[in-house]
This record gives sequence, C-alpha cells and structure tokens, in this order.
Amino acid sequence: MSAAVTAKFKNPIKQDEIDKYLDNGKDFINEDQMTFFLQNKRSPDLRELKDILAKSLSVQTLSPQETVLLMNVRDPDLLDEMKKAALEVKKKVYDNRIVTFAPLYLGNFCVNNCAYCGLKADNQDVARRVLSAEEIKKEVEALAGGIGHKRLVVVYGEHPKNDINYILETIRTIYSVQSKTKHGVGNIRRVNVNAPPFSIEDLVRLKEVGLGTYQVFQETYHHATYARVHPANTIKGNYAWRLYCMHRALEAGIDDVGIGILFGLYDWRFEVLGLLYHAIELEKKLGIGPHTISFPRLEPAHKVELDHFSRYRVNDEDFKKIVMILRLSVPHAGLIVTARENEQIRRDVLELGITQTDASSRIGVGAYDSPEEKQKKEKQQFLLGDTRSLDEVIKEFAQKGYITSFCTAGYRCGRTGKCIMDLLRDGTEGKFCKLNAILTFREWLDDFASEETKRIAEPVLAREIEEVRQKMPKLFPKLIDYYTRIQKGERDLYL
Ligand code: SF4
Repeated sequence: MSAAVTAKFKNPIKQDEIDKYLDNGKDFINEDQMTFFLQNKRSPDLRELKDILAKSLSVQTLSPQETVLLMNVRDPDLLDEMKKAALEVKKKVYDNRIVTFAPLYLGNFCVNNCAYCGLKADNQDVARRVLSAEEIKKEVEALAGGIGHKRLVVVYGEHPKNDINYILETIRTIYSVQSKTKHGVGNIRRVNVNAPPFSIEDLVRLKEVGLGTYQVFQETYHHATYARVHPANTIKGNYAWRLYCMHRALEAGIDDVGIGILFGLYDWRFEVLGLLYHAIELEKKLGIGPHTISFPRLEPAHKVELDHFSRYRVNDEDFKKIVMILRLSVPHAGLIVTARENEQIRRDVLELGITQTDASSRIGVGAYDSPEEKQKKEKQQFLLGDTRSLDEVIKEFAQKGYITSFCTAGYRCGRTGKCIMDLLRDGTEGKFCKLNAILTFREWLDDFASEETKRIAEPVLAREIEEVRQKMPKLFPKLIDYYTRIQKGERDLYL
C-alpha cells in the first residue's frame, strides 16, 4: 500500500477480534491434521461409499476423513453412485430450483496486491473509478428494469474510496431504485455483498442496512501459499483477519455468510478440506454453517502471470469432482458457480448439485448501463467464460426441467441463518421455496421473458403447480390466489 493511501485508510484490523476465536493461539486450519488425512489414498468399497452417501442424504455434514475417501474414488461405477447421490441431495434440499443473480462491481480501486488479480494496486493499466449514486441507479435500472434481476452480489475492493460508509450508502441506493417494467416496477430485493473483512462494529451496520449474504472468500486456506500471493505489507496479507471474518459476521447478527476459495492457488484436495473445516468450525462455534460456498477457478486476467500457478490449476474433470464432493460433504449449503466458467462446464455442474448462478453478467465498472464502453478487459478483475443473457440461461434451465427462482422471501420473513439451515434439513423451507419460486417465476416470465423462453417454461411451471396441488393441498388455494393476482399485474407477493 502506498504511503498516501495508508495515511488516509485507517488500519481496519482489530487483533482482539481475531484472538478471541483462536484455540490455544492457533487457528482452526490444522494443516498437520489435514495433511495426515490427505495421506490416506485408499478408495472406499461400495458398502463404505454407500454408508457415506447415506449420511449426505440425511443432510449431515461429512467428516474430513469421509470427505477424503470421496476424493479418492476413481472407479467409474463408484463415481456414478456419487453423482447420483449428489443430485439426489440437491433435489432433497433444494428441489429442482435454481437461483439467479448478477454481479455488480461498484468500483475498481484496491489497496491490495493479490498476485492473481487484474485489479491489484500495482496494475497501473487499470483506469480506476468508483460509481456515484446516479451511476449506481442507472446500473440498477438496467439490471432490475431491463433484465429482471432481483438479487445482486455487489463487489467492493478494499480502498478508502469504497469504505464501509460508501458500502452502506450504495446498498441503500440500490434498494431505493424502482425501475419501470411492463407491469409496474422492477426492483432489487436482495443485496448480497462480496467485500473485505470488517470489524464486528462495521458488520452490525451492514446488517442494519439490509445486507443479504456476506461473502468473503479465503482464496486459499494454505498458510504459506496465502502468504506468497498476498504481500505481507497489505491488509489482505493478514490471513487470520480474513479467516475469522465470518465468525465476526455471525456474532454481529448477519445470519447468512458465504465462504469460498479460488481454486488454482494450491492443491484442490487441501482446499476442499479447508472449506469443510471452515463449515464445521462455524457450525461448532457459532451454531450456523455457511449459507453458500463459492469456488471460482483461477482465470486469465490483465497483468497476471498464470504460469506462476500452473502446478495447481484445476482441470475440468477435477472441477466437476469438487462440485460433487462439496454437495455431498456440506449438503445444506448453497453452491454457487459463476459465469467465470464456460457454458459447457456450467451445464455439467448443474447436474452435480449447483444451486445458484449468475447470468447477463458484466464485471466492468458501470458496464450494465454502457456495455460497449466499459466492458474492457484491462478494467476487469478477470475474464468471463459465459456471456449468455439471463433469458438464454433460464430457457436452458427450463429445457432441463429446472425452475428459476427469484424468491427473496425467506430473508424478508426471518427464514435465515440457523432457522433456514434447520428448515432445509427437514424439508420445511422447501415448501415455501417451491411456492415462492412459482410466484416469482410467473412474475419474471410475464415481465421479462422472450416468447420462446415463455413457451418452454410454461409446462415446467404447470408441472410445479400440479405438484403443489397434489402434495400440499392445504397451501394450494393460497398459491392459486397469489398466482392469479400476479397474472393480473400485482407484484412481489410471497408466502
Ligand atoms: Fe484487491 Fe480483491 Fe483484487 Fe485482491 S483480489 S487485489 S483484494 S480486488
């Protein structure tokens, strides 16, 4: 960090908000233990595998030893068993729903110097900017009024220009935008945030402003690798400040936290165990596991030497295996795959347990309002692999029998955190989600879908409604009442 920036940016790290969570002065990423578990190269036999899969199917988090056994499976028949179980777990917990969102970059200033990132402070070729309230409104109008998104993941770098006050103000601005659509207004109903680690005090303020999920990715759980790619003289160079930000978030009352890893920095087997250790630790100490897990792969970016990381780049086959293992090991967690990945990979992992994805994505600052001008690669954090529109992606989901849910009701009804985890485990949340998925999908189809997408999606919707009639007869009249009102133009009705 330059001296000028340091002077303006108070060091946010509060050592006591790290120390209080340590066990005997050590963090929970016990590398010796993980390395010991990973030395086991034995593949389970069919009976042992079925016992592990039965545990996943009862929506229990697997142990590290069980997860390592899953990593060791190479036999095609056993892999097939795992694949079937992963999809079954996904259907049991999340039914045939997919949630969509869009990333929104509000600025590209950053004081950090992560070796793998196109926005690192040392990249002088980036034209840095941060969006004003008026520019943010235009972005949101394009997203909510033009495309029909209801959920955003808003991305902030770490810099005085986008400090906590800027973040709070921008979330308020995003929620305030009411864009004109065919039947009234389109708006963003859930703002998830991908931001730097904050103190408990700042996280309480984030909760108060209506934040959805708070995402912070550890990037790599391997201490030495972390130190190698995050220079020690930067804020991000502090491994433990980042590692314990979800502890602080949960303590601050933010129920939904999203953990993640950037695959390609270190051995993927170690990183999967790291994610699992993180999930187990949060559940053990704070009573709530991660709401979502993200697992982007390292992608080319301007001024990033990928050759430095070639040893650990994750190939497509391993990537698919990672998704399957995470689905089985942390069954209650939502799994997010983004448009970093290409169309085909996104198709493949859909069948392995993905629950959330983005579409119509643009990662340039201001790129939704003016895509031609502002989607320039030297201004981006990385390059996208799939640039299809939301309409195209939803059409494909419908062709495969998936219903796209724009539901944000759970969060607005208090079905979050531990409550939602319990509801997901016993299948109760699924009922509300199914009903609200039907209602919000009806709304989106009427307001934003192309005629072709509508034609393909209508039978999916009809099948869902019939399923409610048969399996939830008590709730069916209420659903039909709301559904009919939406068809007549009412909006944002939920159960
Ligand atoms: Fe900054 Fe994030 Fe890029 Fe690191 S990864 S340089 S923190 S924008």
